[in-house]
Amino acid sequence: MQELDEQGWFGSEQLVLCRDDEVGLRAVIAIDDTTLGPGLGGVRCVAYPNERAAVVEAQRLAAAMTLKNASAGLPYGGAKSVILAPEPGTDRHALMRRFGDFILRTGGAYLPGVDMGTTVEDLAIAGQSGAEVSCSTEDPSPWTALGVAAAIRAAVAHVDGQEALDGVRVLIQGAGHVGGALAQDLAADGAQIVVSDVNAGRAAAVAHEVGGSTVAPSEVVSTRCDVFAPCAVARVVSPATIDELNCRILVPAANDTLSYEAEADLLAKRGITYVPDFIANAGGVIHIHALRSMHEESRLRSDIAQIGDRVRGLLDEAQASGETPLTVAVTRVHRMLAQEREVREAHHSREVIHT
Ligand code: NAD
Repeated sequence: MQELDEQGWFGSEQLVLCRDDEVGLRAVIAIDDTTLGPGLGGVRCVAYPNERAAVVEAQRLAAAMTLKNASAGLPYGGAKSVILAPEPGTDRHALMRRFGDFILRTGGAYLPGVDMGTTVEDLAIAGQSGAEVSCSTEDPSPWTALGVAAAIRAAVAHVDGQEALDGVRVLIQGAGHVGGALAQDLAADGAQIVVSDVNAGRAAAVAHEVGGSTVAPSEVVSTRCDVFAPCAVARVVSPATIDELNCRILVPAANDTLSYEAEADLLAKRGITYVPDFIANAGGVIHIHALRSMHEESRLRSDIAQIGDRVRGLLDEAQASGETPLTVAVTRVHRMLAQEREVREAHHSREVIHT
């Protein structure tokens, strides 16, 4: 995850700025790469300090979706969109309907889903434009949580040599859709849960449900735990926080965990096993693919369970090669994309010869 200035504004395959003053819409659609298929990625609707920050966020998150979809073996490229938080009093229905028109204009190159700040209802409204949208009937969060839980079990098994989570202290930042479900799943397996949320009531409710405890948001990074699972905001690891981390294993549900790729090396030096976010949190996109492909639930569950196998393979390869899990995972995707482009190029050349 380079800074945008290094990556350049042409880092994405296609970048669309959307504006409609009548409904109060300002949005960015970033389509990072469509080598493997249409760019699949959620619609985020949050406040940004300025327009540039919104564009940077869309591009970074879109690039992470390319890594996520390819790593999960899905036939999708990577994309993401952000809607700049509308003014109070904005007609939400009109806003989402108009945004749907902009999605439609991408001609199927962008396949949107829910993300922070949007709901299943929002996606259903955007879909009224005629654009194909995912997540318009079902929230993928429980499936994302299932995949993160599988990643945590695999990482604990790799580091501690034990499958069981009995007494393993897991710190969950963000007691929302993913964090709440994750807490329940891991607690049922004997993990000791600590929860933190800027919404103190939500943190307390989840902690109560799972017999866990809470910690203040300002203390979350430095709180001692075995596994830290960020399930809220991006860039939890930054130059300001990296020395404070007090965990042995880092498995995020939140996208874009590292501010800079180089932080993966610093985490390794500190003895913290980092499972890249785009590997751990792929349960949601696997669920979207299952719905589009009309897979049975048993197939969906086994596809999500494979996240655990993928984490085991990744951590073993990283250990054997001396590279970080992030480098191994990113290199795999780049190789996969290069091979796919070569196959296409060869196919194209054969077609030219035959015409
Ligand atoms: P959510 O909005 O339901 O929950 C987020 C929670 O985090 C909220 O309770 C919020 O109050 C809390 N929060 C916000 N800022 C915080 C902070 N600084 N410290 C502590 N808590 C804070 O979101 P979600 O659907 O559970 O998603 C969580 C994260 O996982 C997001 O980053 C999202 O992009 C990522 N993710 C979600 C899915 C999915 O299927 N929902 C899939 C992949 C990735």
